[in-house]
Amino acid sequence: MTYTLPNLPYSYEALEPQIDSKTMEIHHSKHHNTYVTKLNAGLEKHPELLSLDIYSLISKFNELPEDVKTVVKNHGGGHLNHSIFWETMTPNYEEPSENLKNIFKENFLGGYDQVVLQFKELATNLFGSGWTWLLKSPEGKLYIRNYPNQENPLMYGDTPILGIDVWEHAYYLKNQNRRNEYIDSWFQVINWKEVENRINK
Ligand code: MN
Repeated sequence: MTYTLPNLPYSYEALEPQIDSKTMEIHHSKHHNTYVTKLNAGLEKHPELLSLDIYSLISKFNELPEDVKTVVKNHGGGHLNHSIFWETMTPNYEEPSENLKNIFKENFLGGYDQVVLQFKELATNLFGSGWTWLLKSPEGKLYIRNYPNQENPLMYGDTPILGIDVWEHAYYLKNQNRRNEYIDSWFQVINWKEVENRINK
């Protein structure tokens, strides 16, 4: 058993013009693939960890043997982050449902508009490489937070719902230094139906 690179739920060009096909291809077939390959290589001495699914592996992060924590944090985190990233984008954009907007209202003063504002502000201001995540706490409350590098909310006991990758490899080919332009584009391809499913799971 080893971890494998998941297929995208759409083609590399499907998110054009918001996210260009070359970026998608390199991001998935090179960057994500490298996280998977290095995760498998790093777990060779602990084959029992190769038979877990990636969510289980990351949720056990604190109990893992010390000699694999770094590889799991970097490459396991990278594998999980990107797997969720692909699943929560879609070429067939639809506005959040009334039900999802109500969930946002219960969790954020200002509701959906505040979710968008907070996401954009945190993602724009994240220093260096990392991710901005909407997460669900064990008490069922929603929060938006920044994580460095390939860390994931699941390493801290929270459920990852929706994340944006703000590593430069996610946007540099098309947007160069204009991260805010990329963030705006990403908002036009979010799969809100999938987000709602993940919150309700
Ligand atoms: Mn990435």
